[in-house]
Amino acid sequence: MAVFWVLLFIVVLGVLLYKRVALLPATLVMGALLLAYTFLGRGGQAWDTTLWVIYGALAVLLNFRPLRKQLFTRPVLEIFRRIMPEMSETEQAALDAGTVWWDRDLFTGDPDWRKLLDEPPATLTAEERKFLDEDVEELCAMLDEWKITHEYGDLPPEVWQFLKNRGFFAMIIPKQYGGKEFSAVAHSEVLTKIATRSTTCSSIVAVPNSLGPAELLLKYGTQEQRDHYLPRLARGEEIPCFALTGPWAGSDAGSIPDTGVVERGIYDGKEVIGIRLNFNKRYITLAPIATVIGLAFKLYDPDGLMGDPDRKDYGITCALVPRETPGIEIGRRHFPLNIPFSNGPIVGKDVFVPLDFIIGGPKMAGQGWRMLVECLAEGRSISLPSNTSGAAQLAVYATGAYARIRKQFNVPIGRFEGVDEVIGRMGGRMYAMNAARMVTAAAVARGEVPSVPSAIVKYHVTEMARQVANDAMDVHGGKGICLGPKNYLGRGYQSVPIAITVEGANILTRCLIIFGQGAIRSHPYVLELMKSSALPDPAERLTRFDAALWRHIGFAASNAVRSFWLAATHARYSSAPAKRATRRYYQHINRYSAAFALLADVAMLSMGGALKRKEKISGRLGDMLSNMYLASCVLKHFHDQGEPEDDLPLVEWACRDLLYRTQEQMHSLLRNFPNRFLAVLMRMLVFPTGRRYSAPSDRLGSRITELLMNPSSARDRLTANVYLGSDYEGIALLDSTLRLAIQAEPLEKRIRAAQKEGVLPNDERIDIIQVAMERDVIDADDAALLRELRERTLRIISVDDFSPDELGTRPLQHTLEEAERTRESWKQA
Ligand SMILES: Cc1cc2nc3c(=O)[nH]c(=O)nc-3n(C[C@H](O)[C@H](O)[C@H](O)COP(=O)(O)OP(=O)(O)OC[C@H]3O[C@@H](n4cnc5c(N)ncnc54)[C@H](O)[C@@H]3O)c2cc1C
Repeated sequence: MAVFWVLLFIVVLGVLLYKRVALLPATLVMGALLLAYTFLGRGGQAWDTTLWVIYGALAVLLNFRPLRKQLFTRPVLEIFRRIMPEMSETEQAALDAGTVWWDRDLFTGDPDWRKLLDEPPATLTAEERKFLDEDVEELCAMLDEWKITHEYGDLPPEVWQFLKNRGFFAMIIPKQYGGKEFSAVAHSEVLTKIATRSTTCSSIVAVPNSLGPAELLLKYGTQEQRDHYLPRLARGEEIPCFALTGPWAGSDAGSIPDTGVVERGIYDGKEVIGIRLNFNKRYITLAPIATVIGLAFKLYDPDGLMGDPDRKDYGITCALVPRETPGIEIGRRHFPLNIPFSNGPIVGKDVFVPLDFIIGGPKMAGQGWRMLVECLAEGRSISLPSNTSGAAQLAVYATGAYARIRKQFNVPIGRFEGVDEVIGRMGGRMYAMNAARMVTAAAVARGEVPSVPSAIVKYHVTEMARQVANDAMDVHGGKGICLGPKNYLGRGYQSVPIAITVEGANILTRCLIIFGQGAIRSHPYVLELMKSSALPDPAERLTRFDAALWRHIGFAASNAVRSFWLAATHARYSSAPAKRATRRYYQHINRYSAAFALLADVAMLSMGGALKRKEKISGRLGDMLSNMYLASCVLKHFHDQGEPEDDLPLVEWACRDLLYRTQEQMHSLLRNFPNRFLAVLMRMLVFPTGRRYSAPSDRLGSRITELLMNPSSARDRLTANVYLGSDYEGIALLDSTLRLAIQAEPLEKRIRAAQKEGVLPNDERIDIIQVAMERDVIDADDAALLRELRERTLRIISVDDFSPDELGTRPLQHTLEEAERTRESWKQA
């Protein structure tokens, strides 16, 4: 009987915590249970009295706020204030930037799926669709990536003109300034499609539409600056670049040593108050051809000329500086991995510009870091995820077809299990990349500035692109390696590390931004705890801290219970919005969300500010959050596309892979958690029955490979942005040859069977198609089809070769001449 009552108390308390019942009703429920126990249980009077005393003390302490604040909250607040690390201005700006969205739900341990699924899907307006189908298609037809990267080292002039004339640089500029005013979804779709043709061109188009002068002007510029620059940028009369990075400040961009000192000087023949700039920037995209430079520097006003004699150090400030301003050295180029998108250094010595050149005017002096972080929060969701998704779509599309066309041992290479495994994972990852890109772009289009999701998408989509690029190269073998006009993979492969490095290098993004920012920004209570603990008024400070602290304690206890229960039941009974095949994935995200929220809280509580330096811990926590975010995007994308049955293998593979990784990251976090006692405790709550979630099965991978090796609607949806063109040697050739190869397979089988039966000779020296026709194994039409396939296959598997001077490097020429001279001297000897 006693066991029954103990269990009943535990279960009721567990249900109250699981359901997150508020403190007072929960206290009343526990009181009612205790009353029932007093009458029905057989504890004896002394025992019952002891329980009522404990209950009464807890009920009063928890629910009577003045007492709770004095006895419990105040000492906690004091400790909290002592251990809370000082936050730098740059960190504060990063935290204030952007909005929280689905990342908050994943942090709650109980995501509200209806909210996500009811959000409108990514769509294009008729005008955006027309632009994509006509202008972008026309642009792609003009692009020849081999010539651009190897011969011209730039886009040809007619392509530059086309980009300017058709408004490719004006996608984010409002119509009133002559821009296109496209949504984030359209912007992303345009970049993705261009990237399937030329990563050089997609990078060039991305920059003016991303973090840079136009975006900064739109958000912060004065009306005069907007009226002057935006129409010119929209027409392509001005080419912008944005210069933040320098030799001494890369990832730690807030530490730039570049200075602007306010002083009197002569500009345009007149004496004005202006800024004397000295800077040294590198890696600046479009710098060599830019006409206007967005410049970040630290502003100082030693003489108080800006009107505030007490303020000498203003901090990071952004200004727009015309290229022709005296003192600027610009034009030299870096050579970023053979992708010639015009990138180079800019040096400025004693450059003098008026104060009005500050973006937003003098009142925005010192606001530069906040401006940049806010713009980055949005831009990171679009440019790099789109560019890398485009390159990956091309790789997936081509690899599926190539693996069916290319045969070894008389078998399409995609039929070998080793290759099949690789193609399967390429498809699964591609689905996750598309989903993350589209769902996040749709959120941006609705007005979200999702800072944590944008970092997740930037990091993970570029990482997945790297994996897809590696896999595509492996499946293509030498065909992928030998560069030349016939190689459709090589330049995309080379461009991946660039995407990994820019707009927040990936290692830093993973370890410092996704969880570091997410834990504070997206967590339901941490930011409020931090803000309330810093309030100047002690009474208000205690009241607000008390409210946040107790909600946080309830939240953490609830997550511990939810984590245990959902793990023990394999999340079977948790609510999910789908009835079909995807139901279990929603449920598993529910489970991992609770476990993640628990682990994050315990990590923050036990390590405090030191967690910032424990990047192996925060990186893993970031991965958990990211994988759940990406899996949510997969489910939302599937839902938005009308849940097409054919896509299920892709959806299942992507979800399984992401959730399996989440589990494994939780496991390795617990293995490496510094406090071993807490690690054991958490393992009991998170994995009470061990790690039972498995990675995608081999069969699932093979189903994807089949989808990609056949013309199918799932394949078309997955690679919808690929520019096919009508090239004799291009992607269209791969597609038509794939269809031919499928048609020819029964004929090839018939010929092989006839060879085995001895009806046809097995002799490589003879024309087997001719002999098969003569011996009625196949008819004339069949023979024509097989010949056509052979001819096309040869074109596809061919690679380019060059005479040494066509490769045209000076050292090579020199070496050849050396070699010739050596040979001559040998002959003479
Ligand atoms: C092709 C190209 C185009 C670019 N375009 C522009 C542009 O237009 N404008 C502009 O201003 N800049 C531009 N950049 C600069 C780019 O943003 C920087 O390269 C990037 O910020 C990284 O700086 P870094 O290369 O100096 O590497 P570093 O900062 O030296 O970093 C090296 C490595 O250390 C890691 N790391 C650094 N700090 C941490 C940390 N705290 N925790 C964990 N890991 C860390 C990084 O992730 C990276 O892997 C461009 C760069 C390239 C290569």
